[in-house]
Amino acid sequence: MVQRTIALSFLLTLLMAPLMAQTPPIPSLDAWEVHDLERPQPRMVTPSAMTPAPPPSDAIVLFDGQSLDEWTHRTGQPASWTVKDGYMEVRAGAGAIATKRSFGDVQLHIEWATPNSGDGQDSGNSGVYLMNTYEVQVLNSYENKTYPDGQAAALYGQYPPLVNASRPAGEWQSYDIVFRRPHFDDNGDLTRPARVTVFHNGVLVQDNVILTGPTGHRSRPPYQAHEDQLPMVLQDHNEPTRYRNIWVRELAPEM
Ligand code: MG
Repeated sequence: MVQRTIALSFLLTLLMAPLMAQTPPIPSLDAWEVHDLERPQPRMVTPSAMTPAPPPSDAIVLFDGQSLDEWTHRTGQPASWTVKDGYMEVRAGAGAIATKRSFGDVQLHIEWATPNSGDGQDSGNSGVYLMNTYEVQVLNSYENKTYPDGQAAALYGQYPPLVNASRPAGEWQSYDIVFRRPHFDDNGDLTRPARVTVFHNGVLVQDNVILTGPTGHRSRPPYQAHEDQLPMVLQDHNEPTRYRNIWVRELAPEM
């Protein structure tokens, strides 16, 4: 009987192993205070020249350079950012814009360019909020020092990029992001944290990092249960940062 129990628990462990492998614990970032200026500055890497990346056939095009039809202000008002010459530009003070559609697990391509003005956190600050909650920072980080967990391609307040692949302000840059949403059980408890991979100008800068919760300014708040799909949001931080060529591919959910 005892042997059978042991055999059964061994079998269960084997069966559970793949499941357990997919439910990593939330890492502790206690070694670094949020926005810690002592955190090492990622080294600069010069990316290769930008090559046009038209959307693949199964992508949902969120911005093709012509209209903001896929976007709205969070108030429900029509998106009122400026559209011209194939790009959209943050209209300072107009507020963030959100996709009308909601997404969970996605591959996202987005191109952006900051103005050549300001410094620190006030140089082209914007951001891509996955599920309206988890920010991949957009900022001019070319010869513009700030706290590493707040520079371009940082998961804001949590993870600096592995390297700094920024182009000079004013030049077009790209993010290719793979996002795996967090999972919650029926009680609202976290069963699987969110994970993010980011390529900045084609260079790997976030390698499947495990988010500690929502990104926040001067805080690392814990997860709060939310829907399986939520809009993607672009931040209005009062600076005329531009976006173009935005598309997503919805990924099959993880089992
Ligand atoms: Mg931002």
